[in-house]
Amino acid sequence: MSNFRFSAVEAAISRDKRPTFKSPGVKPSELFGSNVFSVRKMKDYLPKNAFEELTAVIDAGEVISHDLAEHISQAMKSWAMSKGVTHYTHWFQPLTGATAEKHDAFFEPGKDGVAIDKFTADALVQQEPDASSFPNGGIRNTFEARGYTAWDPSSPAFIYETGGSKTLCIPTVFLSYTGEALDFKAPLLKSLNALDKAAVDVAQYFDKSVTKVSASLGIEQEYFLVDLSLFNARPDLLLTGRTLFGHMSAKGQQLEDHYFGAIPERVLAFMVDLENEALKLGIPLKTRHNEVAPSQFECAPMFEEINLAIDHNQLLLNLMEQVAQRHNFKALIHEKPYAEINGNGKHNNWSMITNTGVNLLSPGKTPKNNLMFLTFFVNVVKAVHEYADLLRASIATAANDHRLGANEAPPAIISIFLGSQLNALLDEVETARVAKKVKAEPNLWHGIPKIPKLTLDNTDRNRTSPFAFTGNKFEFRAVGSSANCASPMTALSTIVAAQLIEFKNEVDKQIKKGTKKDLALLNVIRKYIKDSKAIRFEGNGYSQEWADEAEKRGLSNIKTTPKALDVYTTEKTEKLFETLGIMSKREGEARHEILLENYYKKLQIEARVIGEIVNSIISPAVFKYQNSLIENVKGLKEIGLKGPAYASQLQLIESISTHVNTILSETEAMRQERKLANALEDVREKAIAYDEKVKPYFDKIRYHLNKLEQIVDDRVWPLPKLRELLFVR
Ligand code: ADP
Ligand code: MG
Repeated sequence: MSNFRFSAVEAAISRDKRPTFKSPGVKPSELFGSNVFSVRKMKDYLPKNAFEELTAVIDAGEVISHDLAEHISQAMKSWAMSKGVTHYTHWFQPLTGATAEKHDAFFEPGKDGVAIDKFTADALVQQEPDASSFPNGGIRNTFEARGYTAWDPSSPAFIYETGGSKTLCIPTVFLSYTGEALDFKAPLLKSLNALDKAAVDVAQYFDKSVTKVSASLGIEQEYFLVDLSLFNARPDLLLTGRTLFGHMSAKGQQLEDHYFGAIPERVLAFMVDLENEALKLGIPLKTRHNEVAPSQFECAPMFEEINLAIDHNQLLLNLMEQVAQRHNFKALIHEKPYAEINGNGKHNNWSMITNTGVNLLSPGKTPKNNLMFLTFFVNVVKAVHEYADLLRASIATAANDHRLGANEAPPAIISIFLGSQLNALLDEVETARVAKKVKAEPNLWHGIPKIPKLTLDNTDRNRTSPFAFTGNKFEFRAVGSSANCASPMTALSTIVAAQLIEFKNEVDKQIKKGTKKDLALLNVIRKYIKDSKAIRFEGNGYSQEWADEAEKRGLSNIKTTPKALDVYTTEKTEKLFETLGIMSKREGEARHEILLENYYKKLQIEARVIGEIVNSIISPAVFKYQNSLIENVKGLKEIGLKGPAYASQLQLIESISTHVNTILSETEAMRQERKLANALEDVREKAIAYDEKVKPYFDKIRYHLNKLEQIVDDRVWPLPKLRELLFVR
């Protein structure tokens, strides 16, 4: 007897487990950036004066003129065509969460049947994608359905290879015709500008040569691999990215034998291939290892400027999909592909770096540097304290709810882990007695400890914290694996910018009143340390004690997305975004609506998939098995055996009836709840109904499905089991 599951398992088992590694033929250093139109290549392809103009414009942060854009487009075209590129596209990040592109050929039929290859400044700078069906939160009415994409010169153009075809991709922002952002990138770029300006203003207290501050970001990406055939045989994985049922495999992660273990050869072949593809696109992938759960892995590039790091992470997700397919794998980047083992996160390692090369979150050696470090460090802590709810909202999605609301990964309570050394330092700074009248600078430091050079020590780590200081950067750990990091990074850059502006105002006020600069700085720092104490937590973030303690401290613990998103439309948030020019009220409202829609639609799809699995896949298989048991009992009776001979079979038949009845009736009840939820007009109410009324059925149904999986004949069970998904590779 064959079923879909067995053919999938068979295909997975018979894969080549010792694949040959394909060498790219050149050294990694030569491969690196070979598909990127970098500044270095612009120099080769641009006329000398155009290149000089470009560097001047970039340094001054000015807008690129049309004439210069014309030169650049010609240079880009020559470079791309020399590499066999035939098409170009604006590459953007709409609020769907995926990236979008629409390819146009360079080729253009000309007069007299002669064709030419054409790429103009206009085509480079702006496009009008026919994009009325991207999420827009009511901003784009159908009568003004045009949107436009506009070139982001701060992220270099690149060549994306799929199959045999090569496309020149130009990173762009995506706006409505009336100028509102419809993507992740536009608000991010605005927030980075705001942060740059605010941080430069504060850095100038310490060093006048600081004229630019850029944020840095290193993204650790977790994912699972599963054999492609097994993946395709599971409708839930195929359509929702996660398993909606499945009895946990007898062996899971309990032996802790996977983390940093030897990488299976077939997986390694995929990783090497992925790394080579990533290198070509200038993505500096450096680390690879096994993660905690079986078949879970992680890769991380070196940190980069934040806008570039985010583009690269989006590209990496695309590459993963493509390269995995080549190796007959599917990469699962959902936050929680399997209910009972660890989920996937995406740690965002974030800092701020000056044009003079100073990492503002790196504790220095001299008192002066200490004060600069302390200033930025404490301002970040204060910002997170003031706007914790916004950070929470910035990572809220249906998928991430499985991590944050549950007792795993960082909790839904935002707190900061500083580590013992820095925690002690802040306590000391807060309580130290500072001389009121300071004559010379050294006196100021009476009682203020010098910050010891921190050793980047892995033992002083707290994996349960959503926002941890790790030596010279903060690590925002609550970000979901499938997220576009622009959302949390826009929030973080914005709140830190706002905080630094407020800080500067307060310090300047004191200086105006005659307080010496360093003392004024210290006064405000001490005030901030006091004000933001509640957000600091060093203990176990997963514990119930912390949930209780956090409540006492007044920290929020918003477990699910629809309510976490409320903060986007509060007066405080609207003012924050509007004052700094990140997003208008209308853009904020639209974003809120899109996120709510996205939330309930995800749950709607999951509910439908559950319905299909229960009604037309599992139940029929279960009935078949149950019938064979009934036949068995009938036969035993027929040959004259008495009750005890078939007591267990009867029990089994009854037990199957109970479970199968429950999944069928609960699925029907869930459908009724869905109908009620669908009828709601208000999108927030709809999202809440899906969360509170529909979603609870998922676990009930899962429970009984898993029971059935344990008692039904393994040979008739139609869908791959978790032990197969997790261990056959
Ligand atoms: P882990 O947290 O797993 O120990 P690492 O400490 O090696 O990993 O760093 C994780 C990520 O942090 C890497 O992408 C690394 O480049 C990045 N990182 C290191 N320094 C900085 C910094 N100053 N700013 C931003 N990211 C950084
Ligand atoms: Mg980390």
